[in-house]
Amino acid sequence: MVLFCMGHKKAELADKVEKMLAGVRAAGLKLTPQRMAIVKELAADETHPTAQEIFERLQPGLPTMSFATVYNTLGALSSAGLCAALSLSPGSGRFDPNMVPHHHVVCDVCGAVRDVPPLAPGSFRSPDASAAKAVAHVAPGFELRSVERIFRGVCSSCAKNRVRTRSLT
Ligand SMILES: [Zn+2]
Ligand SMILES: [Zn+2]
Repeated sequence: MVLFCMGHKKAELADKVEKMLAGVRAAGLKLTPQRMAIVKELAADETHPTAQEIFERLQPGLPTMSFATVYNTLGALSSAGLCAALSLSPGSGRFDPNMVPHHHVVCDVCGAVRDVPPLAPGSFRSPDASAAKAVAHVAPGFELRSVERIFRGVCSSCAKNRVRTRSLT
């Protein structure tokens, strides 16, 4: 069962990478080994990395790669709707390869972002009545497509650091 799930996930990932590579090509960018590495790195990443993070991770293996290449490849993917460009916390934008509607949990201290699956099945398609009412009030006639929530707080490692700093002072 576990093996089956892993195989399934792998196939899903390969499919996602394939679609992303096609998107890069469709945007008129040459499919270089560098761009292929960038796409593979983002597709499997659940941490919502910044362009800088992807650049730093791949740079040792691809020393001639420029930051601009990382940036324009990620930009092409997000314009093509194959990844989402997020700005959930101060600092650089983050890139999300998960295009299935979902919520985010964001750490106030380090800015770490993780996915939160839909809270109830179908909740993105049919938001609860109070949300629909609030939207109708400010934007009459607005056709609501999805509702995304951001859960803000402090992640476990930042919370631990805080306790440590407190006990030192
Ligand atoms: Zn944190
Ligand atoms: Zn996400």
